[in-house]
Amino acid sequence: MMTVTGDALATLPVGDDLSPITVIGTEPIRQSFGGETLAQAINSRRAPGVSRVVLNPDAHVGYGAPVGCVMVSPTHIYPGPVGVDIKCSMSLLQMDLPADAIESLPVRKKLIRAICKRVPTGAGRGQRHAPKSRRVDGKLGFQIATEGASKQVLKKLGISKSWADACEDASHTAPDGSSDTLAARLEWMGRTRDKLDRIESKYRQLGSYGGGNHFGEAEVVQLVDSQRDLAAAFGLKAGCVAFLSHCGSRGFGHDLAVAQFRSLKTVFQKQGLAFPAGDPQLVYAPVDSPEGRDYLCDMAMGANFATVNHLLINDLVLEAFREVFPGVRGDLIYFISHNIARQEPIDGQVQWVHRKGATRALPAGHSQLVGTRFESTGHPILLPGNPRDGSSVMVANAGAAAAAFSVNHGAGRRLSRTKAKKQLVQHEIDQGLAEHDVISNCSAYPRDEAPDAYKDFQEVLRSVRQAGLAEEVARLKAKFVIKD
Ligand code: 5GP
Ligand code: MN
Ligand code: MN
Repeated sequence: MMTVTGDALATLPVGDDLSPITVIGTEPIRQSFGGETLAQAINSRRAPGVSRVVLNPDAHVGYGAPVGCVMVSPTHIYPGPVGVDIKCSMSLLQMDLPADAIESLPVRKKLIRAICKRVPTGAGRGQRHAPKSRRVDGKLGFQIATEGASKQVLKKLGISKSWADACEDASHTAPDGSSDTLAARLEWMGRTRDKLDRIESKYRQLGSYGGGNHFGEAEVVQLVDSQRDLAAAFGLKAGCVAFLSHCGSRGFGHDLAVAQFRSLKTVFQKQGLAFPAGDPQLVYAPVDSPEGRDYLCDMAMGANFATVNHLLINDLVLEAFREVFPGVRGDLIYFISHNIARQEPIDGQVQWVHRKGATRALPAGHSQLVGTRFESTGHPILLPGNPRDGSSVMVANAGAAAAAFSVNHGAGRRLSRTKAKKQLVQHEIDQGLAEHDVISNCSAYPRDEAPDAYKDFQEVLRSVRQAGLAEEVARLKAKFVIKD
């Protein structure tokens, strides 16, 4: 039922005179979308106030909307498509360390130990599980949630203030533009919901990866020859070590998101409203309603937590590298989210762009890059693939407008966790990683996280290029990966 409209571009009709869904993907990628994924995309497109939906090559079944989609609305906010891990993101730290320096296995193991001493992995794990982490008390935690990566917060944590310029957004405010509104709401939560103790325990998760698909990975940077100038402008260094991190807002964002789902569902029930397509995961609020504003405040606080979480992790990773290689220098290339709603100009008006497992892709000259260091280049797009086949740094083309200035956020799941555990064989996974000279901190690499649990990364990259959305600037070759 899809109509192919170009190289790796198709449309999926949704009826009722609504504009069709834009589908990004080569033929094999389009074949990878299951019926449930397409049904979720159609439900999302037909939901109230939605003006546009894009389905990316990494799409698979998600929470209400597919993971790997973009949902645009001028009037409504949808918490499901933002997800429970508010502002789950990628960040890339470039070191001036030649790849040879981490060739030996004992050195790599030393680095893994030095990082794990500072940045814990695992669900619920926080600072007390890492002897060299940086402690965050209630007062600083409160400031982080309400201000994000402000100058003061970065100073208190000992993080370079220039790193704020390498963030897609360094700070998130309430819809009225104020961080005081966030502070008032967080104080109110502490008082009325009797949750202050619990909130404070979540602050102690700052500087941690969490469990599941979150990871830290040491990479060797391989530049695309024709993109050397752009790579230099981004700060990428050919043949040197970089570090890619994937995590979000941990228990703090999770608790805010879950409480929001609960209260919004109650509002629907009290008002006798129907969920879009009968799916409570597509619960929504008009952005100018009290519920909408409250949700946007909580999303902003979760996003602030995720931002500082990433910056702190990067600073701790750099410290770990310095323990093994004294004097090594490192700089943040970029920090970019894939679970967030942002206000952006789309189709001639400012709209809320929900990226559910999707990455912002603003080309050179885009109005939102004016005055940033990426104005004349476009910002770096960080695309994880898998530890065996690599990851990528890309940059958007003007053609990204066709996909609401977005690309995918990775390869995307091919197998559910259950299927991956059943179908994939441990020694084949270990052998595949060993053949590609990748080691990990895990005694047995998690089967549900194995490279073959994800789609073919080459095909995914081909889809992005052929659809004219973005170009590759560098390939990242993994040397070790830290997972739960
Ligand atoms: P998410 O969990 O945010 O939906 O997916 C992020 C993406 O990261 C996945 O689609 C997958 O392509 C990629 N990914 C998952 N695990 C790893 C890993 O250990 N290393 C790398 N480089 N990529 C990964
Ligand atoms: Mn996440
Ligand atoms: Mn993620």
